[in-house]
Amino acid sequence: MAKLFDTHAHYTDERLMGNESLLTALFSQDISHILTVATDVEDGERCHMLADTHEGIYASAGIHPHECGEAGGLDDAMSAVERQLTRRKTVALGEIGLDYHYDFSDRETQMRFFRAQMELAEKTGKPVIIHDREAHGDTMDMIRAFKGRVHGVLHSCSASAEQVREYVKMGWYISFSGVITFKNAAKTLDAVLATPPERLLVETDCPYLAPVPMRGKTNHSGYLHFTAARAAALLQMDYDALCEQEVKNAKTLFGI
Ligand SMILES: [Zn+2]
Repeated sequence: MAKLFDTHAHYTDERLMGNESLLTALFSQDISHILTVATDVEDGERCHMLADTHEGIYASAGIHPHECGEAGGLDDAMSAVERQLTRRKTVALGEIGLDYHYDFSDRETQMRFFRAQMELAEKTGKPVIIHDREAHGDTMDMIRAFKGRVHGVLHSCSASAEQVREYVKMGWYISFSGVITFKNAAKTLDAVLATPPERLLVETDCPYLAPVPMRGKTNHSGYLHFTAARAAALLQMDYDALCEQEVKNAKTLFGI
């Protein structure tokens, strides 16, 4: 069975945390690696613990736009994230970015944390994981400002095909979630078609965004093949070839 790298998951979420039999099943089936993504400093510790105790699991460290407002002083938060990024299996800085859909943190604070974490990415050389919800313009401006100095992945991509082409030109990877299996996903399907296979990643963003036909359930990496199959069909690629390319892409990006 062709294996996949789930490039964006939240196994520290209470719906998934501690489910050892699930993790064992995933790695014995079609999952080779999982990147469990942090949302704040405390979560980065939990992600590190998971990575430390499971061979196929890797971690990130960073402050999610939702959590910036509660993250305390910027300088202290950045030193904590920087410390976490020195760990062997903490392979990316994220997730960071902007969320203008929920606006849980005010936009100025989101922007301050986003910029500081891009600077930290440049300093540490780590790839970043970008969260961009209804903030395509400001996100793109930030990425352009660090062009050639910071790269990474646009997670659960909801950008346009045109924006995707610009990200790709700047050396970025594009990751698609279960959204591409949804009925109302026309714009995102165009974005898949604009992504060269050697820059394409897939993710669950579990426990969120379960793909069709599991939509509405608690998502996990065992459902990632539905999303990968949709991407393969859109790109007219053989399923196994897409999986092989995807794992290779993720390992290149995260330096594994
Ligand atoms: Zn996420």
